[in-house]
Amino acid sequence: MKGKLIILSAPSGAGKSTIINSLLKKSLNLEFSISACNRGMRAGEIDKKDYYFISTEEFKTKINNNEFVEWEEVYSNHFYGTLKSEVERIINSGNNVIFDIDIVGGINIKKLYKKDALAIFIMPPSVDELEKRLINRSTDKLEDIKNRVNKAEQEINQSKEFDKIIINDNLETAINETYNAITKFIS
Ligand code: 5GP
Repeated sequence: MKGKLIILSAPSGAGKSTIINSLLKKSLNLEFSISACNRGMRAGEIDKKDYYFISTEEFKTKINNNEFVEWEEVYSNHFYGTLKSEVERIINSGNNVIFDIDIVGGINIKKLYKKDALAIFIMPPSVDELEKRLINRSTDKLEDIKNRVNKAEQEINQSKEFDKIIINDNLETAINETYNAITKFIS
């Protein structure tokens, strides 16, 4: 396989998207794997850039047509999945793929691609800090925040399945550590 796969998983609010955006600007030949999802678009999000925003019906058709490498109902009625066509598109263009994906999805991709994939877990400094960040981000309803925090506690227990754990206490340090791990892996 030409390109390598970099998986970044983290509980919601751990800073994963900020780290990914910073890594995409560096010369690592990384291209973001755009997932499909059925949730509504948030302010500032762009269709086919942040996600392929599709209806629940379309999502279920794609499941039945076996179009996903993996998919998860990450939160109740919120489906997210990695399309086979997306991974092929990036690999065929000669780039490395970077996934922003939930913990279960990350573990599944790692199992599938084994040594061609580096699975990185971004760990929040604490669950309390995570809750504060989600509240400050103010992109989600209070009920969704509660769900995300409850889920984070279980997710942290699964971090041992990952190749590398990076604690995002200080953003710059976390970015540098992630950058170094990826450089080592792809070179
Ligand atoms: P958000 O709604 O905040 O954009 O994403 C919610 C969660 O879904 C995040 O943890 C994100 O990483 C995860 N996610 C995004 N795309 C995928 C995907 O293709 N597969 C899986 N399993 N999770 C995804």
